[in-house]
Amino acid sequence: MAVKGRTHRPVIRHERCNQCAVCLGGCPAEILPEMRGEEESLRGRVYSRRDGALRVHEGKDLGRPPCQAACPLGQDVRGYIKLIAEGRHADAMALIRETNPLPSICGHICPRPCEAHCIRGLVDDAVSIRSLKSFVADREGGRIELHFKSRAVDKRVSVVGSGPAGLSAAHELAAKGYGVEIFESHSRPGGMLAWAIPDFRLPRDALDRDISYIEEMGVMIKTGRCFGRDFTLSDLKRGGTDAIIIATGTMRPLKLGIENEKECEDLVDCLSFLRRYAEDKRSLPGERVLVVGGGNAAIDSARAAVRLGAGMVKLLYRRGPDEMPADPGEVQAAILEGVGIEYLTAPKRIVMKGEALWGMECLKTELREDIQGGRRSPVVIPGSEFFLEGDLIISAVGQEADYGLLAKELPEGKKKEGVCPLDPETMSTPIEGVFAAGDFLHGPTSVVEAMASGKRVAGRVAGYLSGKE
Ligand SMILES: Cc1cc2nc3c(=O)[nH]c(=O)nc-3n(C[C@H](O)[C@H](O)[C@H](O)COP(=O)(O)OP(=O)(O)OC[C@H]3O[C@@H](n4cnc5c(N)ncnc54)[C@H](O)[C@@H]3O)c2cc1C
Repeated sequence: MAVKGRTHRPVIRHERCNQCAVCLGGCPAEILPEMRGEEESLRGRVYSRRDGALRVHEGKDLGRPPCQAACPLGQDVRGYIKLIAEGRHADAMALIRETNPLPSICGHICPRPCEAHCIRGLVDDAVSIRSLKSFVADREGGRIELHFKSRAVDKRVSVVGSGPAGLSAAHELAAKGYGVEIFESHSRPGGMLAWAIPDFRLPRDALDRDISYIEEMGVMIKTGRCFGRDFTLSDLKRGGTDAIIIATGTMRPLKLGIENEKECEDLVDCLSFLRRYAEDKRSLPGERVLVVGGGNAAIDSARAAVRLGAGMVKLLYRRGPDEMPADPGEVQAAILEGVGIEYLTAPKRIVMKGEALWGMECLKTELREDIQGGRRSPVVIPGSEFFLEGDLIISAVGQEADYGLLAKELPEGKKKEGVCPLDPETMSTPIEGVFAAGDFLHGPTSVVEAMASGKRVAGRVAGYLSGKE
């Protein structure tokens, strides 16, 4: 306990307090508004902010601080930061590993929902939680001693896809003693982390470290094995698997939906572009590059184009800087590297000169309250057309899952071309013993959300296999 003493007069043991404000959430003095005005106290500083009360009480129902409540994995942030502060790095690593199967990766590219909810941010700046995790994972090699019995359960689970969802599901099931094999179509395991997220943002040794730990747990990863091309679900079942998890992500790029999109050969989707960048860093994409989109994939593409030597890289985003979904730190880095950002801009049509790309006609937008979704939506301003020249357009406007392969394996009578009903709650598919997880199930999210989904599906599968569900 960091706090003891009589109501209204708490005695704080400062060596143990890390200002998470959980004590405020449970303190009886919270009902006395005058207690919130003490400028010198943590309570006073927190309540001097308009959103202070809300933030303090966010995780209260579970008695957890807001940082932990905000983390999809429920990481005990307070706990491991305290251990790091005490120099107990191995203990910190062990605590992180209790809930996080990919700590090195998260230390680099987690979108940090914990930091956005850090109470310290109400006082001055949020604690640099991600950097601390990265520090301890690098220092401890991301590992702790393995202390579980491998293959304690006589059941086998096949996971299709080795992204964070598939890897996390495999980790959880292996830790429970199941035999687990992963089938991955790409030559390297890791999903988007292996090739789409560039190595200037996620060092490959961090990824390799986390994956080799999971392999050491007994998980077999078979790369170059594509579901639908090299095997079917029936093949896996015939081979003796007891349950299957589909975690194949969202690999199908969305279209821009504008004139000349089909005809233009100098238009590439961001996944193809980033895959090429991962494999060959020498080929110049074109002197002037236009990137359409506002997420991490758009920023990564723009920064990769700069590294390939493009003379001008311009990113077009239809909303404003505050609405941009990309990590603000990455946006800042892109700007510093010379990427120009045209906010409130939507593409209208691709303009060709003969067979070659000339550029893109764009429209300015303005944001209006969306009555239905409550979110501000971009609306094009008629007559605001302007032209941008370019030699290459990279489209980064989102991806979707391909349900076609799973749909093909539905029982007769339930088949419908390209459609497969999935239940996000139970994580089940209409096929007996087949489950779904990660972006494939929920649509594009983030690494930490895909991991949480992988952990959840492992629980569902274990329940199914032990006859509980
Ligand atoms: C460019 C880019 C940058 C991003 N940056 C961030 C970031 O900074 N932070 C963050 O949190 N999130 C980021 N994301 C999102 C994050 O990468 C995804 O949310 C996450 O990887 C989804 O995990 P997943 O396991 O569900 O799927 P994926 O990571 O997509 O993995 C799916 C795997 O399935 C395999 N597969 C597909 N089809 C088959 C098949 N038929 N047979 C066998 N295997 C198959 C694929 O090869 C892939 O390895 C980014 C995404 C992109 C594209």
